[in-house]
Amino acid sequence: MQPPSVLIIGAGIGGLSASIRLARLGYRVQVLEARASAGGLASGVAAAEFAFDAGPYILLDKPGLDWAFQQLRIAPDALRLTPIESVYHVLHEDGTTTAFDRSLDATAARFEAAHPGSGRQYKALVVKTFRIHQNLKPFTFKTHPNVWDVLRNGSLRYVPFLLSSLDSVLKSSGLPLPLRKGISIWTHVAGQPVAQAPSPMAFVPGLFHHIGAYYPEGGMRAVAALLETTALAAGVSIRYGTRVAAIRTAGKAVTGVQTATGEFIAAEAVISNSNGIGTYTELVENFPAPEKAKLERLPLQSPGVCVYLAVQGRNPPYYIRFKLNGTGCTAFVQPGLLEPGLEQAGWYPARLIAPLDHATAAALGEAGQHRLMDELLADPWWRENISAYRVLHRRTTFEWGREYTLYHDSMNPVMTAKFMIKGRIAHRSPFVRGLYLTGSSTHPGQWVSFCAISGVLAADCLAQDYPAHA
Ligand SMILES: Cc1cc2nc3c(=O)[nH]c(=O)nc-3n(C[C@H](O)[C@H](O)[C@H](O)COP(=O)(O)OP(=O)(O)OC[C@H]3O[C@@H](n4cnc5c(N)ncnc54)[C@H](O)[C@@H]3O)c2cc1C
Repeated sequence: MQPPSVLIIGAGIGGLSASIRLARLGYRVQVLEARASAGGLASGVAAAEFAFDAGPYILLDKPGLDWAFQQLRIAPDALRLTPIESVYHVLHEDGTTTAFDRSLDATAARFEAAHPGSGRQYKALVVKTFRIHQNLKPFTFKTHPNVWDVLRNGSLRYVPFLLSSLDSVLKSSGLPLPLRKGISIWTHVAGQPVAQAPSPMAFVPGLFHHIGAYYPEGGMRAVAALLETTALAAGVSIRYGTRVAAIRTAGKAVTGVQTATGEFIAAEAVISNSNGIGTYTELVENFPAPEKAKLERLPLQSPGVCVYLAVQGRNPPYYIRFKLNGTGCTAFVQPGLLEPGLEQAGWYPARLIAPLDHATAAALGEAGQHRLMDELLADPWWRENISAYRVLHRRTTFEWGREYTLYHDSMNPVMTAKFMIKGRIAHRSPFVRGLYLTGSSTHPGQWVSFCAISGVLAADCLAQDYPAHA
């Protein structure tokens, strides 16, 4: 008997990972990708003489990616990872700075010198949050952990932590405000107020101090490239330039998809790597209006604006430099510090990234976002030790939306504390039989590693329901 045929909508990290998992289990898998190439937001972009990472720039969760690679039978050393020693530096509004190194001792010693007592408080926070992270980590690898899983894992005592916000976790550490702001920078990156951010964002310092933050040789896009090569070698067929316009159903079960050109492709099961909200509200036929309205109320996360630069000079040692500006931040990312071979005749690639919340991005419009990028470029803070620069490419949130097939110019629903506790958009659709979802909308975290994990989990749900060799 033929194994069930599976269609995957989208060749982002989630779709590629799901495709490999299923192909390895014996399914016939076809990926339909709207773009001309794979990788989605985690792919590369070429501008003048340089290749850039389009979106991601740092691997903060190596254990998560290692787990996904193990499930996908990808050798752990298939990516060459450089540990980042000088991780990030924050310039505060008042001109003071906070910097985070891989070394906990060095980081804490600097904090202690600036704010007596804070070195000890910081170490205590890192020890505590890393311990919680280690305890809760197994849940990251489960599709829908329930109360029994929590009890079995002995995690009941961490429920109050999970129910609190990042803000309250940091406040209870006793650390002074500038250090708390430095630690919570990743919520700014997500365009989110710290009081709404979930407590697990406090795991980040423990991760980079105890496990390390990494930059893959060839950039973060090397993750997507490796997944694509592995998928093709595993027998997955990828059809590029094929946008899915609808997921067809009969009696609440999937029958296949219809492409934007009107072609119907039959399938017993479909995995969508398109945005979780958009999958239901725009792709699934006859989706119930009340459920649609609930999904449409979820706040969306914007990719922000990005300027791709060639720069002369580098500003060592910190790979990422942030400037805080009240409600948000700008990041200056210098891959040339970690991969000196990127240099071309004295020029290095670099990026200026400004996260935006979704509503602000929409209100600014294309012209407003270009003005914002002009202002970012004109601000001298990021040009320390940079003698010249050329703007190679700029991207508004609208361009992200158009170029990466995003739902309402957003990457996914914002991971608020409330949404994380309630659970993300399920890998196995509770509404449509034979429909599964993968990607950043489906996992409590939007990193590349989480998307790879979500691909494995979505594929495993499908394999449970439609065994390959029934
Ligand atoms: C500026 C920026 C910085 C980031 N920084 C980091 C970082 O430092 N570290 C980190 O780990 N992560 C980072 N991320 C997040 C990370 O890049 C994403 O979470 C991840 O790449 C999303 O993967 P995904 O599987 O959800 O799919 P996506 O990347 O969204 O890919 C989905 C794919 O599906 C295709 N598709 C969608 N709809 C259809 C359709 N209807 N028909 C056919 N194809 C379709 C799209 O074209 C796309 O190729 C960053 C993201 C951005 C934008």
